[in-house]
Amino acid sequence: MAGRRIQVGEIEIVSLTDTAGPFFTYSGAYPATPRETWEPFRAQYPECFSGEDGVVTRVGCVLVRVGDRTLLVDTGIGPGPVALFGHSRGQLMEELARHGVAPEDIHLVFLTHLHPDHVGWNLTEGKPSFPNARYIASRSDWEVFHTPEVKAFMESLVPGCVERDVTPLAQLGVLDLIEGETEILPGVRAFPTPGHTTGHMSLHVTSGSQQALILGDVFHHPAQVQVNEICIAFDMDPPAAIQTRRRIVEWAAAEGMPLAGCHLLPHGLGRIARRDGAFAWEAL
Ligand SMILES: [Zn+2]
Repeated sequence: MAGRRIQVGEIEIVSLTDTAGPFFTYSGAYPATPRETWEPFRAQYPECFSGEDGVVTRVGCVLVRVGDRTLLVDTGIGPGPVALFGHSRGQLMEELARHGVAPEDIHLVFLTHLHPDHVGWNLTEGKPSFPNARYIASRSDWEVFHTPEVKAFMESLVPGCVERDVTPLAQLGVLDLIEGETEILPGVRAFPTPGHTTGHMSLHVTSGSQQALILGDVFHHPAQVQVNEICIAFDMDPPAAIQTRRRIVEWAAAEGMPLAGCHLLPHGLGRIARRDGAFAWEAL
């Protein structure tokens, strides 16, 4: 599970994998998408398919180095074992160590959204796992995930994922909530990409004449680059998620810029190309 890295001008982006496996089924994860829709993608992205109905899912995080500042984007499923993800245990800490990064070296943790597979390593025994970091989340996600209905649903998926892994960030005084476009580091701008969750945000990274996007969960599967209408069951607002995918596909393809996605295979880094008149995900 080695990470992959790209250089964007002076900024380094490293894709890390917390866990991966055939944790879900197509019929369960994408209940509104008929089986025929997937067929053409079996040959194109074989790494995403396991047997008849199994979908291989990677849970990733992204490390960004800007000068002497180190940013971690999302914190995976956590130490686990997490039943929803095949009782697996997250490997983020080993991945960071492999890249020479200690928890103390992280200055900023940016949470693209607050789903349980993006907040798992936020805290260790009630204390920040990254003791020198500020944690950044979107205010609207924070509010939505603390409504009784959403919180209860999330806790039913992964017990403790709001109350243990998210809520204490505020009490510990390490949390900054942001709204709208916000520059979180020089050359790293957060911007809203709503749909998967209400307050979902992505990062636009620019340095010199180069740029990249770190997309969180705008895409879960490379087929969504071509068929933007495919929605995972966890998209809170499917029409908004489709709209966001359309906007990102057009923009990323026009600029030819590299992308990082938390769930994309094999390692989360790729580009959107035009192939036979359609858009397609191409891993780097
Ligand atoms: Zn996710």
